[in-house]
Amino acid sequence: MTDTTPASTVTTTAVSASAVVDPVIARRNRYMTLNYPRFGIAMAEGRGCELTDTNGKQYLDLFSGYGATILGHCHPELVAAATEQAAKLWHVGNQLDTEPQTLLAERIARHGFDGRSFFCHSGSDANEAAFKLTRLYGRRDGGDRYKVIATDRGFHGRGFAAMVATSGDKARRGYQPFLEGFSHVPYNDLAAMEHAIDDKTVAIIVEPVQGEGGVHVPDDEYLPGLRALCDRYDLLLICDEVWTGCGRTGRWFGHQHWDVRPDIMTLGKAIGCGLAVGVMCADPRVAELFSVDSYQGVPHATTLGGNCISMAVAARMLDVVEREGLVERAMALGDHLTAALQDWAGKLPIMEVRGRGLFVGIELDPTYQRTATEIVQAALDRGVLIGPAGERVLRIAPPLIVSQGELDRGVEVIAGLLGS
Ligand code: PLP
Repeated sequence: MTDTTPASTVTTTAVSASAVVDPVIARRNRYMTLNYPRFGIAMAEGRGCELTDTNGKQYLDLFSGYGATILGHCHPELVAAATEQAAKLWHVGNQLDTEPQTLLAERIARHGFDGRSFFCHSGSDANEAAFKLTRLYGRRDGGDRYKVIATDRGFHGRGFAAMVATSGDKARRGYQPFLEGFSHVPYNDLAAMEHAIDDKTVAIIVEPVQGEGGVHVPDDEYLPGLRALCDRYDLLLICDEVWTGCGRTGRWFGHQHWDVRPDIMTLGKAIGCGLAVGVMCADPRVAELFSVDSYQGVPHATTLGGNCISMAVAARMLDVVEREGLVERAMALGDHLTAALQDWAGKLPIMEVRGRGLFVGIELDPTYQRTATEIVQAALDRGVLIGPAGERVLRIAPPLIVSQGELDRGVEVIAGLLGS
């Protein structure tokens, strides 16, 4: 089946009306909501860091599906975990226990801060759960604290609470009335944070390294300073680790770079390795409020949260990351990547290269004519997949199994594009 409608009605690429369109894209145009800006390329297969489109063209994947495919595509051990579990048990409902949930929760506790996990389906879901828990915390002693302070440029998802915790108008235009109780202060500014706290404030939510906002690493004082503010005013510190979790930044979780213990950590993307998993992990003292006993009912729930296949895959992923030393490797390869990009920076329209581990942002010079999305499109044409963050930042977030040679190839292509 061929079709002559443009590859994408919301595409970032100019596609001539007479172009022959991939049947996958033709069906998408006909049967799906067109809420995503897409490049008009349909992927058919993946192996490691390599993707193959429906025309057989190959791409080096240096973006991991917005950070999700942390071990690349079809990692043999994850395929084994999924198929073994698929042949055993898929789902029973959360009135019953299943081992894969407990194995994953145990591993998250071990690599993190010994918290208790609630399982759901996305980063946004995990943050929604966190916000509900903070409300219980603010009322646990008969008080009425419910406000959450977030940061400018922060991104926390698209659910009704996550959307208002997210900074700016872009994700929420048209969706009024908004949930009240969320405010924003500049990232990396402790004085602004303290100034925003009032007697209704119950929590601060922060990304240890901002992702969608353009890969911003805070000063070393920032997270410890937020911890101190939370201790002083009895607030919960929520670290949104949806981008920074599971080893990407060269620590198991981003907050560990600064030796800070959050009260709540949220995970998504990488924890599911490409399956739909979100996690809200809370310090036991706080998690206690999410128990049937203390709530005297069901404080929060979701039917498929913790389904056996996703849990088995996620638990296996953490085992592979640990066994293969991929956290340390992410740090070492990230240093290599950053150094290689910085070598180019003086000769190319690059204003700054920043990030931690295998989470790297390249901010384009303000005088440079092309947008980040145009560069991403051009890189795709050359067989390399990277991501934009807004208009001016390119993002590199490869699977942790990427080789140094693959990173070097990516750098070469990006440098070639920016230099042309
Ligand atoms: N939190 C952060 C830091 C994110 O970057 C994102 C998505 O990009 C989310 C939450 C939302 O995650 P999801 O898209 O899985 O709902």
